[in-house]
Amino acid sequence: MLTSSRQCRCCGATFAQLLSLACDRPDMCPEDMPQQDNTAIIAERGDVLTDDFCRIGDLHFLRCVLAVPLIGGDEEEFVLGTWASVSRENFDSYMDLFELRETETLSNCPAWLSNAIPPGMGEPVAGMLHMRPEGQYPELMISETGHPLYPLQKNGAQLEELFDLLYSYGHDMASLVYDA
Ligand SMILES: [Zn+2]
Repeated sequence: MLTSSRQCRCCGATFAQLLSLACDRPDMCPEDMPQQDNTAIIAERGDVLTDDFCRIGDLHFLRCVLAVPLIGGDEEEFVLGTWASVSRENFDSYMDLFELRETETLSNCPAWLSNAIPPGMGEPVAGMLHMRPEGQYPELMISETGHPLYPLQKNGAQLEELFDLLYSYGHDMASLVYDA
């Protein structure tokens, strides 16, 4: 099923393509703020959005990923590109090591999920940001046990749960699979 080339009715994306979704900015960041090259985070003062960093007032955000393993899915996982707010100290340390691709030398740090996932959920949600090697984006692990992502990240998601999650983003794969 997972290698199926069935396409979503709304957007034509295949199921495999839908295994990753990305938020291009933290929810707090205005939609009309231009996304600049990463150098702007140092070059500019005040509120800035770049490819991987964002500063809004006193808040500091990093691009990260949030992965949900698929149960029975041969190591497949659903990866959400998202944003986490971190302390200014941790933000600065991360920024110093980012270009060197040495962020994995940092300790894991507390962070707050800064996009409503699934849509409509309240945020911020507490988590821990785990650093990863070779310039990969850090991975956010949700620590609030009452949040719907917590059990999904911890135990993995059944295919149906993943369809539900995709459906909350407007992608209706379930009817295609079960109608067929
Ligand atoms: Zn779609």
